[in-house]
Amino acid sequence: MSAERIEAVVIGAGVVGLACARALALAGREVIVLEAADAIGTGTSSRNSEVIHAGIYYPTGSLKARTCVAGKQALYAYCESHGVEHRRCGKLIVATDEAQLADLRALKDKAAANGVDDLVFKTPDEVAALEPAVRCAGALLSPSTGILDSHGLMLAYQGDAEAAGAMLAFDAPVLEGAATREGIRLEVGGGAPMALLAGTVVNAAGLAASRVARAIAGLRADAVPETYFAKGNYYTLAGRSPFARLIYPMPEKAGLGVHVTVDLGGQARFGPDVEWVEDPDDYDVDPRRADSFYEAVRRYWPALPDGALLPGYAGMRPKLQAPGEPPKDFLVQGPAGHGVSGLVNLYGIESPGLTASLALAGLVLETLGEPATAAA
Ligand SMILES: Cc1cc2nc3c(=O)[nH]c(=O)nc-3n(C[C@H](O)[C@H](O)[C@H](O)COP(=O)(O)OP(=O)(O)OC[C@H]3O[C@@H](n4cnc5c(N)ncnc54)[C@H](O)[C@@H]3O)c2cc1C
Repeated sequence: MSAERIEAVVIGAGVVGLACARALALAGREVIVLEAADAIGTGTSSRNSEVIHAGIYYPTGSLKARTCVAGKQALYAYCESHGVEHRRCGKLIVATDEAQLADLRALKDKAAANGVDDLVFKTPDEVAALEPAVRCAGALLSPSTGILDSHGLMLAYQGDAEAAGAMLAFDAPVLEGAATREGIRLEVGGGAPMALLAGTVVNAAGLAASRVARAIAGLRADAVPETYFAKGNYYTLAGRSPFARLIYPMPEKAGLGVHVTVDLGGQARFGPDVEWVEDPDDYDVDPRRADSFYEAVRRYWPALPDGALLPGYAGMRPKLQAPGEPPKDFLVQGPAGHGVSGLVNLYGIESPGLTASLALAGLVLETLGEPATAAA
């Protein structure tokens, strides 16, 4: 099949792919987004907590820390200017016993090193005044944490991208590709198979990013990291939320602990936990996991009634570390990392990828040698 020439291709119409498409289109590039599904945001981007993270936990200087803090500021400004529904509701990180207070103070220092200098220590009485249902030995209040309508955000990115000339193709899975002297050739399946030849390709295929990269001939195999899958299960609360803010316990190894988030409609949900799985399409929520949720939640909300937790939904984290290994950072890999001119791969874009989406798009532009300003 002869290939149609196009300046830039973005693989994947999740929040990160759409942010990249928007940035490339605003930078004046001719862009097509290839999406395997029949709509935007059917992957991880619609299976998350919809939290605008402050940037507290990540190792200082890491991409997660930098893109979260910069992305948060850009995202609040973007939501305001584009009418994307959001709320700066704040969150409490609670120490459930005295022994965790030192960790809480260390977390405050870590956050400050990341540029998050607005955390305030709260005594148990002060917490009770804010959130009467919470029991704790002390807490940190993060005023810059918020929630947003993630689908509204993706629609806004899509709207900007299309207004700047980008096209979206659905039912357009990238099957394989090859680095050639003329550019990167992509074979696209689905209802209307086609071949494209692009000077720029951004692989924002989320859970499938490693698989897509491996299917590009000419890309060094040793440059493609393995992606592992850690399911996050959610339980929803039957009845009204007793919380106005998000409530988080101290973080765990591979996740942030079973926390409470409240969506814009006021529904409280608990999770996500961490369940390592082989199959990235396994979104079932096993009702037997409820026991561990009751136990975890009652450490800070002792009054959680029996039977109040209902199995909700699950999201899938693309992880670059295997189970038991220390956490790894986002990987935004350009030609210097893999040897193919014009190709940027985004690997391991788990949380805080939603918060960081505008900053990640800026980084992709920089990796391609463009000024990052179009991404904001
Ligand atoms: C449980 C959970 C909770 C989270 N909570 C938060 C949070 O509160 N705040 C926050 O900031 N972040 C959060 N995140 C992270 C955030 O959701 C992700 O970082 C973000 O959604 C990733 O977006 P993406 O565009 O990279 O991937 P995706 O949304 O997965 O999009 C990838 C797209 O690529 C498409 N695709 C795959 N293969 C192909 C192919 N071969 N050809 C064409 N298209 C293809 C897929 O269909 C999909 O639409 C959470 C993640 C999880 C799992």
